[in-house]
Amino acid sequence: MKLTVAEKIIKDHLVTGDLIRGSEIGLKIDQTLTQDSTGTMAYLQFEAIGVDRVKTKKSVAYIDHNMLQTGPENADDHLYIQTVAKKYGIYFSKPGNGICHQVHLERFGVPGETLLGSDSHTPTCGGLGMLAIGAGGLDVAVAMAGGEYYITMPYIVKVGLTGKLNLGVSAKDIILEVLKRYKVVGGLNKIFEYTGEGVKSLSVPERATITNMGAELGATTSIFPSDEITYEFLKLQGREKEYKNIVADDGAFYDEEIIINLDELEPMVACPHSPDNVVSVSTLKDIKVNQVAIGSCTNSSYMDLMKVAEILDGKTISEDVSLVISPGSKQVLNMLAVNGGLSKLISAGARILESGCGPCIGMGQAPITDGISLRTFNRNFKGRCGTPSANVYLVSPEVAAVSALTGYITDPSIYMEDINIFMPERFLINDNLIVNPADYGEDIDIIRGPNIKPFPKSKELGREIKGKVLIKVRDDITTDHIMPSDAKLLPYRSNIPYLSDYCLTPCDIEFPKRAKENGGGIIVAGFNYGQGSSREHAALVPVYLGIKSIIAKSFARIHKQNLINNGIIPLVFENADDFNNIDMLDELAIENMLEQINEDKIIVNNRTKSKAYKLILDITERQRDMLKAGGLLNMKGE
Ligand code: SF4
Repeated sequence: MKLTVAEKIIKDHLVTGDLIRGSEIGLKIDQTLTQDSTGTMAYLQFEAIGVDRVKTKKSVAYIDHNMLQTGPENADDHLYIQTVAKKYGIYFSKPGNGICHQVHLERFGVPGETLLGSDSHTPTCGGLGMLAIGAGGLDVAVAMAGGEYYITMPYIVKVGLTGKLNLGVSAKDIILEVLKRYKVVGGLNKIFEYTGEGVKSLSVPERATITNMGAELGATTSIFPSDEITYEFLKLQGREKEYKNIVADDGAFYDEEIIINLDELEPMVACPHSPDNVVSVSTLKDIKVNQVAIGSCTNSSYMDLMKVAEILDGKTISEDVSLVISPGSKQVLNMLAVNGGLSKLISAGARILESGCGPCIGMGQAPITDGISLRTFNRNFKGRCGTPSANVYLVSPEVAAVSALTGYITDPSIYMEDINIFMPERFLINDNLIVNPADYGEDIDIIRGPNIKPFPKSKELGREIKGKVLIKVRDDITTDHIMPSDAKLLPYRSNIPYLSDYCLTPCDIEFPKRAKENGGGIIVAGFNYGQGSSREHAALVPVYLGIKSIIAKSFARIHKQNLINNGIIPLVFENADDFNNIDMLDELAIENMLEQINEDKIIVNNRTKSKAYKLILDITERQRDMLKAGGLLNMKGE
């Protein structure tokens, strides 16, 4: 049988199921990663499972999201993660070592292996030919404990790249073009596999920019072949022994196919407030910029920042622009420092931030009120930057750098003529911010600061689910809406009771109070509920508030799994118009739940309006068992 790259890796890791599209498969996971904002909860859950050591080939705990340390909370969290890591056999990447996906690409990713990460941009390592998937913290905890990871066998989209990028056009523009075509929900249950002549002209970091932002398509993951370019990258990282050639067989079957001619691509921009709101830069006229932010796991590689340094070399940024740059890793920052790139950035007027997520997760550098911020990041949801009235445009490093000079969103093509950036002869390798796990963990004590609170667990499914509609929300509600993650809240990621006062408050400030007063209830939502990050807190906090079910027009993939893992029933309207027939505070009831849970269709009664609606419960048998038990941890006997 002729196989695609993704199918080859899936086949090698299949524990249950087959390569039949749409069927449930269980995968053996080789590597895991966590970051600090999801990590504390993932490790609390891992501890609750009760194994002595991780069973993966390699697991890494990164600290990259919250490094402001405005109080002891997140410093305490970091120490908890560090001690858990040491004890259980996990590498610990200290604050300052870089963004999890950038560092994982540089130092840990291995072609042909599976990677499960408690961060939605885990597919970044697909640029190396890994099958890299973002998941909730509990799924990652189970994988660390040796359990398989279940997904629906995705449909595979062939993205054929022909031609070669013109000057001023970059890998970011390729993924923006895919987002323009598929939109933020178009990738659901799909893997985007890149192939064709054009692939050969893209370095691994460029490929990683594309697979990284595949997350915005809602895709299961994105992947490139592992070829001579991959070998070259690994060699420059001193890891050529980990290379394995993985290319699709000639004549392999793809479920869909699109072609992007790189010769015809122009610099693109995703306009506010969605990553799929994509137009060519040349169509935007006279948009004045207040802030330019360069970095994030999408565009903070050595090559990206060297391009920026060369564009800015000898020039000064516009007096009306604030330019902030966060290098993706210590390796990137160190190399820029050694080869003079850093000096060019500083001389031009850039503010250099530490290697981490920084402004991408709203940790500082919020734009001015009503400001225009140009960012090389992957998300521009309203308010994510910390200023609710700001407008964020997503662009390539080239567009960002040139626009920082002109003060307006500018097509970089004519500014690029003398700019030539090549891969270095060798990356600067210094892993002294990575702490190795202890050989034996028995004697290691885990240090838990006062901010580490127990996580909430659901109860077994009862005979009836009933409750008031506590909130009705529109389409495309993100995990940022459900559980905001601004600088004020990020230190409390291991403190669910504290976070509960902020749940869904961007939609309705009274929601937490109403939920508590009513002893929990039901949420009603539009399409694509829970899009965005893998943030499990967007399920854990509703569990704490007593949410029993969410009835939506549709759900985002990772969030739906997180709800099921934590015992919240995700139901979909059979007739989407029924959304309009339910009002806030209507009393809903699902009777005979223990019988209905076994069915694909469920009837909910609206006792306030004396009406009934048909709902769809589109889940697997294993997920039904999980909901009956009240969540995955209950199934594990905890
Ligand atoms: Fe960090 Fe932003 Fe990437 Fe998330 S999307 S891992 S916050 S840089």
